[in-house]
Amino acid sequence: CVFYRELPKVELHAHLNGSVSFQTMEKLMNRKPHLNIEHSMTAIGKGQRRTLDECFEVFKVIHKLVDTEEDILMVSKDVIREFAEDGVKYLELRSTPREEQRTGLTKTNYIDTIIKAIQQCKSEGLDIDVRLLVAIDRRNGMEVAMETVKLAEEFMLSSDGLVVGIDLSGDPTVGHGKYFLPALERAKNGGLKLSLHLSEVQSQLEESELLLNLPPDRIGHGTFLHPEMGGSQSLVDKVVKNGIPLELCLTSNIKGQTVPMFSLHHFKYWYQLGHPTVICTDDKGVFCTDLSQEYQLVASTFGLSQKEMWKLSQQAIDCIFAEEAVKQQLKKKWQDLHPQVF
Ligand code: 5GP
Repeated sequence: CVFYRELPKVELHAHLNGSVSFQTMEKLMNRKPHLNIEHSMTAIGKGQRRTLDECFEVFKVIHKLVDTEEDILMVSKDVIREFAEDGVKYLELRSTPREEQRTGLTKTNYIDTIIKAIQQCKSEGLDIDVRLLVAIDRRNGMEVAMETVKLAEEFMLSSDGLVVGIDLSGDPTVGHGKYFLPALERAKNGGLKLSLHLSEVQSQLEESELLLNLPPDRIGHGTFLHPEMGGSQSLVDKVVKNGIPLELCLTSNIKGQTVPMFSLHHFKYWYQLGHPTVICTDDKGVFCTDLSQEYQLVASTFGLSQKEMWKLSQQAIDCIFAEEAVKQQLKKKWQDLHPQVF
C-alpha cells in the first residue's frame, strides 16, 4: 500500500546482520561461493516459522558471510539505502562488534566501518538520519560486555554523536541479566542510552524486574511483561511509571514463535494502555519484511485508521536516542509531509 511506504517512519530496532536483504545476500554469496550458503539458510520466508533457537542458527550463517571490513561496509550501506527507500527518515541500527582472526577484522574496525557507511550515506544525500547502538551479545558473557561498553564509550566521544547507546541482545535463554548489570550501569552513567531485550521469552520475570530497576531507556519486545502473558502487574507498573517505550516487531515474533498469532500480539495491550510503542522490523532480511509492511500489518490486525497510524509514526520521534535538535528537525519534517486529508 502506497500510504505506508510514503508514511515517514522511524526505525529503532534493527539488527544490522539480520537486516541484510535478498539482493545483498546474493552479492555476499557470490563473494564466498565456497561456503555453499543458500538463501533458505539466511531467511525465513512467507508462512514459515522457526523456533527461536533456529533463528539464532541463521545469524551464525550470516556471520560467516559478513566477515571482512569490505562486507560490513557494503551491508551497512545497502541496509541504510533500503530503509531510506522504504520511507524511513530516522534509523537506529544496532550491531555486535566481532573480531575475525582469519580476515584481520577487529572490533574497533567493525564499528569504524559502520560509522564510515553512515557518513558515506549522508554525503550521498540520502534523506535518512542514522545512529548506531553497540550491541552486547549475552552469549559472550560479562567480561566481553564490559569491553563492549568501554568501546562504545570511546566511540560515543569520537563519532560526532553517531554512537548513542547500547543494546543487550542475543539468545535470551543464555545467561542471566544480573551478570550484565555492572556493564549496563557503567554505560548509563557514562551517557550511553540503553535499549534492552526484555521478557522476550517466558520465565524471565526476575531478570526483567532487576533490569527494569536501571531503568533502561527503551525495551526490545517485552513480550511476556504483562500479566496476561505470565508477567506481572509490578513489571507493567515499572514500565509505565518510568515511561519506557517498547520496540515491537510483529513479524519477527510470529516467525520466531514467541507469539502464536498476530491478533494476540502484545501491541494491543500496550496500545490500549496509551503507553508509547514503536513499530520496528527487528531483522528485515531474516524475516523477509520491511517497516511499511509492519505498519500495514498493525493497522489491519488491530483495525487502526491511517490517521492513527500517522500518529503512531509521529510519536516514535519522542523515543529516539539522538539529541533534541534531531527530534525537532524530524517533527518539522513530519509536519511538512502531513497529508491534507486522510
Ligand atoms: P548483528 O549484531 O550481528 O548485526 O545482528 C545479529 C545479532 O543480533 C544476532 O546474532 C543476535 O545476537 C541479535 N539478534 C537479532 N535478532 C534478535 C532477536 O530477535 N532477539 C535477540 N535476543 N537477539 C537478536
